[in-house]
Amino acid sequence: MGQRHTVSLLSSIEERINSKLNEKELEIQNINRKNKDLVERIKQVSMEVRCWQCRTKYNESVVNVLKSNLEQVMAEGARNGKEGYGDSEVDTATSYANQNHTCRVGGSADSFSLKKQITCRACKINEASVLLFPCRHLCLCKVCEGLIDVCPTCRIKKSSSVEVFLS
Ligand SMILES: [Zn+2]
Ligand SMILES: [Zn+2]
Repeated sequence: MGQRHTVSLLSSIEERINSKLNEKELEIQNINRKNKDLVERIKQVSMEVRCWQCRTKYNESVVNVLKSNLEQVMAEGARNGKEGYGDSEVDTATSYANQNHTCRVGGSADSFSLKKQITCRACKINEASVLLFPCRHLCLCKVCEGLIDVCPTCRIKKSSSVEVFLS
């Protein structure tokens, strides 16, 4: 009798341990699944970060190109200002800025006609100070730029714009 009792007690303990083990196994599976999810998330996030880094780099390169463009324009403007005449540039944006600069520095005979070109093409009152993209025309003032979506010079829809200061 005693022995049988012990056996049934043992088997019930074993059963309980088994069910506990099963529970734990389920938990472990759950945790593993969550881990997998987390790893996926981390991968995704790190990809996003890389994406942003790429974009940042791209933006930086755009800024650098713009900077060097502007520097070139400034240098040429200063030179042209001394000479009194501007070379005709292929790049429209450059030549615009060039003329703008020449006009300010140069005081040459063309001053007046040049000045006409740098006033805002929309209101014809303010000075054009916003460079449009992608066409890179410098032809709008800050006020009109906020109201107009299409470049008044070439009719290309602007994707973005940058205010420029020529000193
Ligand atoms: Zn304007
Ligand atoms: Zn344009």
